[in-house]
Amino acid sequence: MDSLMQNDPARVIEADRAHVWHHMMQHRQLETTDPRIIVEGRGMRVWDITGKEHLDATSGGVWTVNVGYGRERIADAVRDHLVKMCYFAGSQGTVPGARFAEALTEKMPGLSRVYFANSGSEANEKAFKMVRQIAHKHHGGRKSKILYRERDYHGTTLACLSAGGQLERNAQYGPFAPGFVMVPHCLEYRAQDEFAGSDYGVRAAEAIEEVILREGPDTVGALCLEPITAGGGIIVPPRGYWEKVQEICRKYDVLLHIDEVVCGMGRTGTWFGYQQFGVKPDIVTMAKGVASGYAAISCCVTTEAVFERFKDASDPMAHFRDISTFGGCTSGPVAALENLRILEEEELPDNSTRMGVYLQEGLFALMEKHRVIGDVRGMGLFAGAELVADRDTREPVSEKQVGAVVADCLKQGVLIGASNRSVPGLNNVLLFAPALIAEEDDIDEILEAVDGALGRVFG
Ligand code: PLP
Repeated sequence: MDSLMQNDPARVIEADRAHVWHHMMQHRQLETTDPRIIVEGRGMRVWDITGKEHLDATSGGVWTVNVGYGRERIADAVRDHLVKMCYFAGSQGTVPGARFAEALTEKMPGLSRVYFANSGSEANEKAFKMVRQIAHKHHGGRKSKILYRERDYHGTTLACLSAGGQLERNAQYGPFAPGFVMVPHCLEYRAQDEFAGSDYGVRAAEAIEEVILREGPDTVGALCLEPITAGGGIIVPPRGYWEKVQEICRKYDVLLHIDEVVCGMGRTGTWFGYQQFGVKPDIVTMAKGVASGYAAISCCVTTEAVFERFKDASDPMAHFRDISTFGGCTSGPVAALENLRILEEEELPDNSTRMGVYLQEGLFALMEKHRVIGDVRGMGLFAGAELVADRDTREPVSEKQVGAVVADCLKQGVLIGASNRSVPGLNNVLLFAPALIAEEDDIDEILEAVDGALGRVFG
């Protein structure tokens, strides 16, 4: 049956249409169009079941395949290891787990302990649970509140949505877990009036301090932030922001948890996004690029100081009372270790910096030509172009128009993303996150497609 289906695209499409419930999809649309089924990938490109080739400027749709498609050495390493040792629970050690944890923390000075999980959401849940357990054990149950930021996203589970600043993703799933409190975003282009003006970065950070003071510093355990807000519109925190955030966290003994699920593993040009800003986090979570999609693995990495808070042989409840059947399953760290070696040997974080500059220059050139681009933002191979109907009022274009640009690029064989279905009224940012192996020709092709699409959609 397998071979029959492989040889018969129509049957695969029919099986998909009849039985697969796709993520984030309004299935009514599949009544008039076929589902797109991706069957093969090599380097920067993927092919769908109809044979159409696409240049992928999304790294697998959600910024995951950092080292590109078709890396046989990752597949070989996973295969070799699986036939030898397919699985054992994370309460025991594994060779790949130990080796990857060591290699990873070498890239993260100041952090030393790796807790394995499967997805970005799960890694963030682990971090939230650590904060809550520290509150119970060391602060008499106080300091259990977790602050998160408007427009940030930390995952799909109910606790992660409770810490979710993208209101369209949250709508319809409440009631949420208590003890999560939102702080304002830091997008200067859409500054809240009260923070606008000079020193915006410092003032946006001070808004976090105001929330801590309002809630009571003795109730706040952690602040969870993306280093650069990803799906919420590529928001690079302005100058002065991170220094002030760090100062505030130290002042009120608030743990700084940075969600590197998207920005980690070279995406922005450094190994981790926080390293662009000289920040020293207490907890870092990561997922997508950890194994570039070749295996499901995520990590919650902490300082030794955080880890130490769970050591108390006299208290049977002191250890981190958490378990995950597949967290740290051996295929994950094997793939992750090979992925890290590739990033290192091919100097892909540096390539991300170089090509990121090239991409942004190209987007700024398009901004000169197309008045609909109101703002260009990003770092490394991670960029966004915000589309506005009017540059003076900054009124966003409609989601339908953004969708038309994405669809036009798709027609031209280039996959790009958009900040759709996240922030009401502001789903107007085109997103670009090609694999870190991208070269100038790839970027030119992406820019050319966007140029053509903007011309056709907006005239
Ligand atoms: N954190 C951030 C910043 C994300 O963008 C995402 C997913 O896009 C997550 C967490 C959740 O990751 P996962 O979908 O692997 O659970």
